[in-house]
Amino acid sequence: MDDRIGPTALPYAGARSVARRGREGLGMTDRIGIVGGGIVGVAIARHLSAGGRVVTVIEKESRLARHQTGHNSGVVHAGLYYKPGTLKATLCAAGRESIREFCHDKGLPYRELGKLVVAVDETELEALAEIERRAIANGVPGVSRLIGASRLHEIEPHVAGIAGIHSPRTAAVDYVAITEAMAHDVRAAGGRILLGHEVTQMIAENGRVRVITSASEDVFDRVVVCAGLQSDVVARFVGADAAPKILPFRGEYWEMTPQSARLVRGMIYPVPDPRFPFLGVHFTRGVYDAVHIGPNAVPALAREGYGWSRFSAKDTWESLRWPGALPLARQHWRMGVDEVAGSLLKPLYARRARRFLPELTMADMAHKHGAGVRAQAWGRSGELLDDFAVDQVGAVTLLRNAPSPAATSSMAIAAYVAERHLL
Ligand SMILES: Cc1cc2nc3c(=O)[nH]c(=O)nc-3n(C[C@H](O)[C@H](O)[C@H](O)COP(=O)(O)OP(=O)(O)OC[C@H]3O[C@@H](n4cnc5c(N)ncnc54)[C@H](O)[C@@H]3O)c2cc1C
Repeated sequence: MDDRIGPTALPYAGARSVARRGREGLGMTDRIGIVGGGIVGVAIARHLSAGGRVVTVIEKESRLARHQTGHNSGVVHAGLYYKPGTLKATLCAAGRESIREFCHDKGLPYRELGKLVVAVDETELEALAEIERRAIANGVPGVSRLIGASRLHEIEPHVAGIAGIHSPRTAAVDYVAITEAMAHDVRAAGGRILLGHEVTQMIAENGRVRVITSASEDVFDRVVVCAGLQSDVVARFVGADAAPKILPFRGEYWEMTPQSARLVRGMIYPVPDPRFPFLGVHFTRGVYDAVHIGPNAVPALAREGYGWSRFSAKDTWESLRWPGALPLARQHWRMGVDEVAGSLLKPLYARRARRFLPELTMADMAHKHGAGVRAQAWGRSGELLDDFAVDQVGAVTLLRNAPSPAATSSMAIAAYVAERHLL
């Protein structure tokens, strides 16, 4: 008999033991469905299909990598910031090496342009020293110890700062091209990629999962959900806990004029505010040589709200009535006001960026260069989740928090999910 998985049908804690029983019986011919055709979903599909598994990627858009994967800074993070021992720290280190090898094997661009994290005043030195400790503990290749102003200028002649850390192996890539190349491998190994199929329902059926989409219906032995900005919505289809919820944070970029791009050799980052999971507005020379400034972090008014005009009453109402909304607003309202002002007023955005690059003028900021929306998970008390999070409900594995550096880490996340959840 069909058994609809719903909030009351499958209690969350009990679901974990169902998952363990399910894992024992998974065979090579069992069918695995993967919801989401961003880099994480496609990397998981590639990992599994390379091991002989039968996989189907189900993506709602008409092309892959349409959301976070196609709207990010394009940086392969070396692992400077992450607390040692966390999933972010370990999977970023492993993922960085896998992405480098993959780009090399496929002839895709991989440019080690290097990153400078810059403290502009003494208040940032303690946080910079903590980054140094973490970078060393995480084994970041080639990373410098704390350097002074003269060395900063040798690396980035136009930067202003009193101290910094240099990570020469931080690289620029094209994550859309990487995702497409991974998808090519999936298809070559016999896997299917369904585009334009939005998953609208999942039903437990004799230990398997019936997946209903806007265009099809199929039954899988196991399902992995990597739905990014929609990951909490899809999690609800299988009765998972409502927490963590996704809070969409938009990050907007400006592109520098080709003439002013000479002010930046590689990547220049601020010392991030340890209270937030975001890295702060930075300068990034991309893989195709354009230099971008950003991303900021403004609350988006829709999950896929790439500009102020994209408003979803449903998404906004859901965020406002979440129990964590008030504590988060109380704690961070000032930063929120600053970010929104910087988004609406170019001179404020420019003033922030000029802290590191005093020669930057408003005219150097040629035009807005799109935006990405971060799928940031937050809990009921208003806390923003820092580490990657994976849950299991019956035969369904749910990636519930895969923010930066998940693109860098994607191939390592794939190995981790396969080993821990699908063997
Ligand atoms: C502004 C910004 C800058 C960033 N910079 C970096 C960086 O430099 N380096 C780095 O490593 N990381 C960076 N990140 C983070 C990185 O982009 C993400 O962690 C990564 O792309 C997550 O991949 P994903 O596959 O989980 O999600 P996504 O790429 O968002 O893919 C999820 C997919 O699921 C699909 N989907 C959703 N719901 C359904 C449904 N119901 N049915 C079918 N399909 C569905 C969506 O259409 C989407 O294609 C950045 C992110 C942002 C937003």
